[in-house]
Amino acid sequence: MTSGISRRVREIGESPTLAISAEAARLRGEGVDVISFGAGEPDFATPAHIVEAAGEACAESAMHKYSPTAGLPALREAIADKTRRDSGLAVAPDQVIVSNGGKHALSNILLALIDPGDEVIVPAPYWVSYPEQIRLAGGTVVALPTTAANGYTVTPEQLAAARTAATKALVFVSPSNPTGAVYTPEQIRDIGRWAAEAGIWVITDEIYEHLVYGGAAFASMPVEVPELQPRCVVANGVAKTFAMTGWRVGWSIAPAPVAAAVNRLQSHVTSHVCNIAQRAALAALTGPMDQVDAMRQTYDRRRHRVHEALSAIDGVECPLPEGAFYVFPHVEQRLGRPVAGRKVSTALELCAVLLDEAQVALVPGEGFGAPGHVRLSYALSDEHLARGLTRITEVLQ
Ligand code: GLU
Repeated sequence: MTSGISRRVREIGESPTLAISAEAARLRGEGVDVISFGAGEPDFATPAHIVEAAGEACAESAMHKYSPTAGLPALREAIADKTRRDSGLAVAPDQVIVSNGGKHALSNILLALIDPGDEVIVPAPYWVSYPEQIRLAGGTVVALPTTAANGYTVTPEQLAAARTAATKALVFVSPSNPTGAVYTPEQIRDIGRWAAEAGIWVITDEIYEHLVYGGAAFASMPVEVPELQPRCVVANGVAKTFAMTGWRVGWSIAPAPVAAAVNRLQSHVTSHVCNIAQRAALAALTGPMDQVDAMRQTYDRRRHRVHEALSAIDGVECPLPEGAFYVFPHVEQRLGRPVAGRKVSTALELCAVLLDEAQVALVPGEGFGAPGHVRLSYALSDEHLARGLTRITEVLQ
């Protein structure tokens, strides 16, 4: 029964990361004490100076009106400045299009670049929305598996083997959601050079640029490989860095003709992003970074805690992530054995049992193209993290 729904939408599923968090919130509303390791969302409040800037913007009548589709000029300039400051990429403000979060920026880019029949390479495990957005744009997803043994990173050799005459683009992310892998600058150079030589577009998602730990360092592909810049689009946003998930401000940075195409597209679909949220983002990008660093240090501490707790569970292999705020343990060994007296043979079933029996919400690996895994966000409070890990340990013991 399709009820008149278009094929394009029939063929996609709901975002499992958002669905898990919505289910956790629903259960909480019913009085169930659920602890959510679901959607990656900082538990911190947005820093006060950012919230104050939004309050001031609310009082300005110009902010109550339409503004340019591509974003407030001051914000586009601040994004260009911030990009030069943080990643070293020199861009002009007219290459920046402000969108409704990083997810919208990515969707715009794919719609602007991909034609039906184009193949898009996506290293797996991948973030749940990449393949669905590619399909919505009419593209064909070419998932390239990576493993814990190679640090969940893809090699130019793998990319070369996957390339066909129809390959249009590669979607790249480092630090990675869901694995927390961080590519070295050298790996990024090798991949970028391969793409530049092959004439393949790279859409690089830099949303976790500030969340790297230990000896890992963030590197931006178009900076490492300047010759790629004519075929490289960067997606980014304020959500993860500044604890601003609900404000919905992201952006794409593209060669001028692609930026103009994204602007045309957005002008018919959403127009500009809420002015108040844009002014909040402006305050974030031009303000102090000390709270960002404090949040990063907290995630770093939690990262060790979750890694230690999960590694101590029999049948769970949990690599220590180097970036973002996720762990992505392999639970295959734990499948096939009962959990809380219930039969469990997939990660999907394991997550369902953990929610029922331990009131903890995890995201099953299936949606990330990695059955046999589960994802936990550790961007939740220390108290919830401790209680949630205790519950998981008790049920899986
Ligand atoms: N990007 C975050 C995650 O992967 C937020 C939810 C979503 O948009 O997928 O959990």
